[in-house]
Amino acid sequence: MKTSQEWIDLGKKVLFGNYSRIPVAPVRGEGCRVWDADGRCYLDFVAGIAVNALGHAYPKVVDAIEKQARAMLHCSNLYNIPPQIELAELLVAQTFADRVFFCNSGAEANEAAIKLARKYSHDQYGKDRSGIVTALSSFHGRTMATLTATGQEKVRLGFDPLLPGFQYVPYGDAAALEAALDDTICAVLLEPIQGEGGVNVPPEGYLQAVREMCDRRGVLLIFDEIQTGCGRTGKLFAYQLEGVEPDIMTLAKGLAGGVPIGAMLAREALAASFGPGTHGSTFGGNPLATAAGCATIRSLLEDGVLDNCVASGRHLVARLEELRGKYPALVKEVRGRGLLVGMELEVPGAPLVQAALAKGVLLNCTREKVLRFMPPLIVSTGEIDAMITVLDDILSAQG
Ligand SMILES: *Cc1c(COP(=O)(O)O)cnc(C)c1O
Repeated sequence: MKTSQEWIDLGKKVLFGNYSRIPVAPVRGEGCRVWDADGRCYLDFVAGIAVNALGHAYPKVVDAIEKQARAMLHCSNLYNIPPQIELAELLVAQTFADRVFFCNSGAEANEAAIKLARKYSHDQYGKDRSGIVTALSSFHGRTMATLTATGQEKVRLGFDPLLPGFQYVPYGDAAALEAALDDTICAVLLEPIQGEGGVNVPPEGYLQAVREMCDRRGVLLIFDEIQTGCGRTGKLFAYQLEGVEPDIMTLAKGLAGGVPIGAMLAREALAASFGPGTHGSTFGGNPLATAAGCATIRSLLEDGVLDNCVASGRHLVARLEELRGKYPALVKEVRGRGLLVGMELEVPGAPLVQAALAKGVLLNCTREKVLRFMPPLIVSTGEIDAMITVLDDILSAQG
């Protein structure tokens, strides 16, 4: 058995250096806690970047995976896959959507959404109407289409030529979006709350205004709910917070509780544009992943997880607001919905993440100065208080 440090050193030798990794090697988890290779315990407020929605080793998800692994791990989409059909039925019942396409990651789900929007527009209106508008500070993935869609220079730098037909507008600015919607545009792609961009909640009425301008112009509205979906904001999907329905929605991250999965959901009107042979994925909707997805979505709906998310989210925001009151020179703002919460700092966040690690808490920082809290949706107020005590210590030591 290797120590954490041995794993860290070996990883540095044999893996690409494309991640600046936090120096810890977690090997086991239960609920909101993880243990590293040295047996040290950490409170997990990152949850695999909003992936471990039900925490670690949630019994119903583990049971579903065990059962499915014994029955059948993989089956091609040449055939009918019962757990895939079940998960699609669950998602259709819970959303605006009529149909689901499964893939393996968020980027792939957004790729599918971009392809569907362009194909639909091509089928309806012919060529020259393939433009897609996205927001500055957005994040949509790392494939060529999705990094082009991402409104952050640093993600695109060095990878040109990018895909043609994308443009960016400031997030939350309805007038700027309206101005960009000429007759070359087929779709608008937005996160209902920007995650990687710093937990940016749009002004009230923004999503409604976007829906209306898309309707007026026959432009498709795509919501990237890869981070905000699957219970993260206290509703099963964030669009349900304000009742603004998209035409297409993408999911991944928490959808199968930690097993890789992605999904694209859409209204019936778009279905004809994805006929036989238009799109596909070998692993997409794989029996193992979709069985885990069924167990995850059912648990979110049946185990009181959404209510816990709302209550724990309120508690978390209240406790972070206390810290903002106590350290006004260090903490600028607290914002978010449910258990997707950002605390914008006046100082760089990386040293705080390091300090929290040393005190047994996993925290995340995005956009240099935003601590982003996205614990498992089953997190208790006691666990939040334990994290707050550590964060309070760290902030007080900043002087
Ligand atoms: C994480 C994320 C993605 C990319 O998902 P991958 O599974 O890493 O490809 C896309 N959009 C949003 C909003 C995300 O949070």
